[in-house]
Amino acid sequence: MSTERVKCLIIGSGPAGYTAAIYTGRANISPVLYEGIQPGGQLTITTEVENFPGYPEGISGTQLMDDLRAQAERFGVEIRTGIITKVDFSERPYKLTIDDEKEIEAETVIISTGASAKYLGLDDEKKYAGMGVSACATCDGFFYRKKVVAVVGGGDTACEEAVYLAGLAKQVYLIVRKPYLRASQIMQDRVLNHPKIQVLFEHNAVGLFGDNGVEGVHLVKRKGEADESYYDLAIDGFFLAIGHKPNSDVFKPWIETDEVGYIITEGASPRTRVPGVFAAGDVADPHYRQAITAAGSGCKAAIEAERFLSANGLL
Ligand code: NDP
Repeated sequence: MSTERVKCLIIGSGPAGYTAAIYTGRANISPVLYEGIQPGGQLTITTEVENFPGYPEGISGTQLMDDLRAQAERFGVEIRTGIITKVDFSERPYKLTIDDEKEIEAETVIISTGASAKYLGLDDEKKYAGMGVSACATCDGFFYRKKVVAVVGGGDTACEEAVYLAGLAKQVYLIVRKPYLRASQIMQDRVLNHPKIQVLFEHNAVGLFGDNGVEGVHLVKRKGEADESYYDLAIDGFFLAIGHKPNSDVFKPWIETDEVGYIITEGASPRTRVPGVFAAGDVADPHYRQAITAAGSGCKAAIEAERFLSANGLL
């Protein structure tokens, strides 16, 4: 197995990873960035990004990520394709195996592997991706002004997204598989008392239909019960809010995570409990999960990495 020593290894190519790359590249640290499974991250599966500062007319998610990548390349960042398959943080330099075939020895590591929204697993979710299916109301809700949308889920995220969308859309259906909501009481009250939100308890979405994007959802009510029934509901947008999975599994033996898998850092810093290993972006953020907050934390991680290298005489 070939081995290579780097000062800073950045894992992930979303806004956090690319921002960390831009900062460490400019600081002459010669960072190496591995793109991961979804080059460009979650923004490449959204349509238009209208809330990233600096783009008064909005920008497509893929274009934004292409721009961030080009900006990183301008500062000499080496961007590579590959997945981290093994990690050894027992001593510095830290050892990370790429695709089971190459080993990188890194003095500092910035983990920015993101989180993946959970989907129901319907073929139609893929068929209508970017054409009415979304897992981020804050990102895509604006396109459904005065339209009819459905949100799937019964937790705090689903309730928050339903309330957010109700501020834009004409009507919001909340599709909940159980006869009750799991969300906090305050969010339940907001949803249940909102004139534009109708909660469909004991409902499951089993498919979508439409010629040019989503035009409706196939629903089953009281699935598996004697009075089970099927019907279709006309909607323009279908939002998933059934949870996120942080992409932290490979680091778990070394890094502290919460029960869901979000990496725990020291206070508001990107420092993990392993010196020189930092976490940025959605993999360490259960709360905000925005491109701009991820970019901000990528910047913080880069500054921390530079300071760590400097303090250890490695620059
Ligand atoms: P949760 O795990 O709390 O809720 C997920 C919801 O999706 C549940 O209602 C669950 O149903 C439903 N669900 C899961 N899988 C499926 C499926 N296959 N089909 C249909 N429904 C499904 O995730 P959240 O993202 O809502 O919240 C994560 C954490 O973050 C929670 O601790 C939450 O409290 C917190 N949070 C806090 C906020 C705040 O304080 N402002 C805002 C947002 C999140 P079921 O109940 O049947 O399992």
